[in-house]
Amino acid sequence: MSTFDAINLRPGPITGCQICLSSHLEFILDLGHNALCDSPLTPEQVRGPETLYPLRLVRCMDCGLVQIDYSVDPALLFHPDYPYLSGITETLKRNLQATAERGQEKFPASRDALAVDIGSNDGTLLEGFKKLGFRVRGVEATNIARVANEKGIPTTQGFFNLNMAQRIVDTEGAAAFVTATNVFAHVNHLGTLLRGIHMLLTENGVFISESHYLLDILATLQYDSIYHEHLRFYSLKPLAKLFDSQGFSLVDAERIPNYGGSIRIYAQKGRGRPFSENVRNLLAEEEKAGLYASGAYQKFARDAQTSRQKLRSLLVRLRDEGKTVAGIGCPGRAATLLTWCGISPDLLPYIAEQSTCLKVGKFTPGTHIPIVDEKRLFDEQPEYALILSWHYARDIVRKMRAKGLRSKIIVPLPSVRVAEGEL
Ligand SMILES: [Zn+2]
Repeated sequence: MSTFDAINLRPGPITGCQICLSSHLEFILDLGHNALCDSPLTPEQVRGPETLYPLRLVRCMDCGLVQIDYSVDPALLFHPDYPYLSGITETLKRNLQATAERGQEKFPASRDALAVDIGSNDGTLLEGFKKLGFRVRGVEATNIARVANEKGIPTTQGFFNLNMAQRIVDTEGAAAFVTATNVFAHVNHLGTLLRGIHMLLTENGVFISESHYLLDILATLQYDSIYHEHLRFYSLKPLAKLFDSQGFSLVDAERIPNYGGSIRIYAQKGRGRPFSENVRNLLAEEEKAGLYASGAYQKFARDAQTSRQKLRSLLVRLRDEGKTVAGIGCPGRAATLLTWCGISPDLLPYIAEQSTCLKVGKFTPGTHIPIVDEKRLFDEQPEYALILSWHYARDIVRKMRAKGLRSKIIVPLPSVRVAEGEL
C-alpha cells in the first residue's frame, strides 16, 4: 500500500502507475508532442518559439488505471491566466449545481454544514450548495478566483495543500462535503489531494468527484479528451483500490452527461464500507466492455487513426474544391484534435468563439489557428463549419441556427459526418 506522498508525481516522464506504482504499463496510443491545450498564444507569442510535450496513453496492467505517461509542471498548466470559466455554458452550469443536490439527497447533512470545492473555478458548483443553505469555501489556483469572490462565493486563491486544508478546518470547521470536479483527474499531487480531503472531512464526510469516464471515452472514441491536464482516465476498479489505499471507501457512483460522458463518484471517509448497487453494476459493465484487457484499447487506437485520416481528407478535399470552412468553439480538447489530425490554418482559417470567451484574439496552441469573435462566422457564413465542442453539438447547433448560421456542420466524432439543419 502506498503512503500519500508516494503517489505524488514530479514533473517529467511517468514510469510507474499513478495509483499502484506498478511498472507494468501497456502502451495504447501516441498522440505525438503537443503544446499545452489551454495555453492559447497571443499575437506576440505566436511569432516566437513554443514548447511541446510528449502525449501518450498507457494502461496499468496491475490495477487497470488508464493514464498518460508524462507529467507537465502544474505551474505551467494552470497558469494564472488559465482561460476557462465553468459558468460559461448553461448545460455545464446546471450539471455542476446538480452535484450539490445529489450529494445532499444521498448523504444528508445539516443545512449550515460546510462544503468545500477544490479547483472551484468561478464558483458555479458551490452556488448549488449555497442555495441549499450550506456554508461554502472555494479553492482555486488561477485568477478566476476573483470572479468567484466578486459574485459572493468565498474563494481562496492558491494550490490546495495540507496547510490550506488545516487552515480551513481551523477557521471554518470540518466539511460534510468536499468536491473536486475534473481536478481529481488533473492533479499531479494526488496523494496530497486525498490526504488534504481526508483532513477536511468530518468522520462520515463524503468526497464527491466528477471526471471523464473511461467507458464513455472508449465508447465514443474521445481521443480528444487526452491532453496534459488529464493525467488519469478513471474507471471504478482502480478508483476503489485508490480510495482504500488512502483511507476512504468508494460507496456510490453514477454516470452523468458532462463533457461527453462522466462519472460522479462518492467516497466516504473510513475504509471498509460496502459498494452500493450502482457501483457493483458499473464494475460488471466495465468488465463486460473489456476495460481490463488489451483488445478494447487496440481497437480504440486503430479507430482513432482511421478517424484522423477521414477528418483530414475531408478538410483537404474541401480546401482543394475552394469551399469555405471555419471552426465553431475552442474547448481545451480542440487542441488535441487539431494537432493529431494535422489541421493547420490553410484547412481551417479561423475558429469562432463567443465574444465573452477569454481565448478570442489568440491562436490555438500548436496549430496556430486564429480564435475570433463569432460575429465573423455569422457575417461570412462559410459553407462548412467544424464543430469542436462536438460533445455538445446538438445544443450548440440549435443555438447557432437560431442566431442565423446557415453553414453545413462537420461533426468530427464519434465518426466524421456532415449535417445540414439541426443535428
Ligand atoms: Zn496501477
